Amino acid sequence: MPVHLEPRDVSADLENFNSVLIVSCPVCPPMCLAMQQDSPFIEFFKRGLKTGAFEDYIQSIRKPLEQRGVRTGAYAIHIPTPMMCLWTEWQRNRLLKRAKDYEAVLVLGCDSATYTAQEVLKNTECQVIQGMDMIGTTNATLKVRFPLTFNLDMHCVLQNGGEHQHKITLGGSKDIEKMAS
Ligand code: SF4
Repeated sequence: MPVHLEPRDVSADLENFNSVLIVSCPVCPPMCLAMQQDSPFIEFFKRGLKTGAFEDYIQSIRKPLEQRGVRTGAYAIHIPTPMMCLWTEWQRNRLLKRAKDYEAVLVLGCDSATYTAQEVLKNTECQVIQGMDMIGTTNATLKVRFPLTFNLDMHCVLQNGGEHQHKITLGGSKDIEKMAS
């Protein structure tokens, strides 16, 4: 059940830090970036398991920070689970060790991913900033092409509003269409 996420402009939030670690959940965020940019989710023989659109997005955050002298790092961990909402104690301890040299952690993930980072770092001076907005739940068709290329054809984003579920049809303006309650 991928969460639909959209990048948030965090340049103002990051302007007072000298070091920023970008912590990514490698599940929903790369799927969303690939769908939003209409580019492949996985091109195995070109990029392995990395998603080009998402890697480019991380670079687009790092580059302006580094140009003004901010030290940056990027962190994601895939085993035993890539999902930050389900990280094991071992994965949480790994982040704690990695983040201790940074003033801020920028989370590319949903509210639950951010909560994971906040809990891990709650006894440190490291500030946690969420870098993506949660919009709803994505519905898409996975398309497999030769050789080992996966695209996601997004249909809609589902939102829960009170007792009703809404469907946001993406494209141009966002039309909100009420579905059966
Ligand atoms: S932490 Fe959020 S973004 Fe990552 S897999 Fe879980 S729901 Fe998706």
